[in-house]
Amino acid sequence: MAEHEHVRVAVIGSGFGGLGAAVRLRREGITDFVVLERAGSVGGTWRDNSYPGCACDVPSHLYSFSFAPNPDWPRTFSGQEHIRAYLEHVADVFGLRPHLRFDAEVKRMTWDTEKLRWDIETAAGALSADVVVSATGPLSDPKIPGIPGLDSFPGKVFHSARWDHDYDLRGKRVAMVGTGASAIQIVPAIQPDVARLTLFQRTPPWVMPRVDRAISAAERRLHRALPFTTQARRGLLWGIRELQVQAFTKRPDELGLVEQLAKRNMARAIKDPALRVRLTPDYRIGCKRILLSSTYYPALAQRNVDVVASGLSEVRGSTVVAADGSSAEVDAIIFGTGFHVTDMPIAERVVGAEGSTLAEAWKGGMEALRGASAAGFPNWMTIIGPNTGLGNSSMILMIESQLNYMADYLRQLHVLGGRAALDARPGAVAAWNHRVQERMKRTVWNTGGCTSWYLDASGRNTTIWPGTTTEFRRATQRVDLAEYDVIRAPLSEGAHGARSGAEVGA
Ligand SMILES: Cc1cc2nc3c(=O)[nH]c(=O)nc-3n(C[C@H](O)[C@H](O)[C@H](O)COP(=O)(O)OP(=O)(O)OC[C@H]3O[C@@H](n4cnc5c(N)ncnc54)[C@H](O)[C@@H]3O)c2cc1C
Repeated sequence: MAEHEHVRVAVIGSGFGGLGAAVRLRREGITDFVVLERAGSVGGTWRDNSYPGCACDVPSHLYSFSFAPNPDWPRTFSGQEHIRAYLEHVADVFGLRPHLRFDAEVKRMTWDTEKLRWDIETAAGALSADVVVSATGPLSDPKIPGIPGLDSFPGKVFHSARWDHDYDLRGKRVAMVGTGASAIQIVPAIQPDVARLTLFQRTPPWVMPRVDRAISAAERRLHRALPFTTQARRGLLWGIRELQVQAFTKRPDELGLVEQLAKRNMARAIKDPALRVRLTPDYRIGCKRILLSSTYYPALAQRNVDVVASGLSEVRGSTVVAADGSSAEVDAIIFGTGFHVTDMPIAERVVGAEGSTLAEAWKGGMEALRGASAAGFPNWMTIIGPNTGLGNSSMILMIESQLNYMADYLRQLHVLGGRAALDARPGAVAAWNHRVQERMKRTVWNTGGCTSWYLDASGRNTTIWPGTTTEFRRATQRVDLAEYDVIRAPLSEGAHGARSGAEVGA
């Protein structure tokens, strides 16, 4: 059988994480890598989410790469098509095209303990790699709850991240399930077109006004002529959020004032006291992601909208039934029910040194060293791994920190020379996660009195970083070799990789 292709690094995914990794690899002088993407184009989140109203909720000048500033963002919160175009542009400008492999879904990767490499099966064939950088995204596999009767619903059903643009919603009776970040963008965008909109709300979100405006031609000219002004704008946006996060992580009690602002935002649009009660959250603001919209409440106040303060529990023919017994007949059901987050789907496809999957290793909850590497899975790291999410700022800041870590990881491997691999020590992983969970205890995400998608089935917060982005940047600046076992390739054929405790001071 012909020997398959071997690369130094295989990156999985071509969203912000995967493309960022590719840029960074090239900057580190590594060109022997591929980016494996299951879809037919780059963009990740911003390719898959094309629902009406889709836009970022962190200002564009912060929600973009620091190494690829864009003076031409059209709005303070730019829309999906502009963010997608930006990522296509990044792929072009940084010469990433030759590395991209589309329609190459990674089905399985298995660590070869003798050859110290990952054997990777993809939809486009097999290859192997010394190092895998998994950037499959925290929000890339849509989750549709198992609703009894849904299979026999005669109308149209789709998820917000798989919008069916061929289906015309005009004049239709639509059930929108969920009131998270996507739903609150969709509702005002489709409300004027549909005949009737029934919104199933299990838990009301806190919604703050979104100060969205067109960025003027003069501002853009200024940014183009004087690039430091783009950096200054970004710095300001970052600094504000860096200060804000302290309230979430250390002083949730002080968030009452912010709740007053959110209540005022609601009161401006919702005049019906009964509806206001239904829309008022009973948990501390920030516990779930704070949503930004100046159009959501005005849309809910329209006569063609019903807010059902209960989750969808059953579908009977074309009738959707809520847990509180209320029902409506609809033509279409749109799920804005989020993604597989705490059960990272790629984990089922990674088989480590002991022959078991990462999903098995994580059955008690995801955990990784510095958000990147898991014990028993040598030379495998995630971008946006466990506890790297943010409640209030740009994920690009976290991605870039993880890219620093990735770059140093590869430098360390290079210094070790020859064939070697790094395997996170179980004690180091445990110590890191202990620190993270200790800090988590007093954060609003754990104390705010809500159940959110940040928490896993056992109630542990395995998604959010409980600190500032600066702290995470510091923690990921360098790989500390004392936190890893160094595995050397065996001298003789057939022997297993040898662990060198001496090299790590064991
Ligand atoms: C609607 C929406 C709005 C958001 N808005 C913001 C915002 O305003 N600010 C913010 O900070 N964050 C936001 N986020 C979070 C956002 O997901 C991250 O900011 C960022 O885009 C994640 O990038 P990523 O590359 O890690 O993942 P993704 O963009 O999800 O990319 C992952 C890629 O991996 C590919 N992939 C997955 N599995 C496989 C496989 N087995 N084989 C091959 N390829 C695979 C996917 O096809 C995808 O292209 C938003 C998320 C959503 C869904």
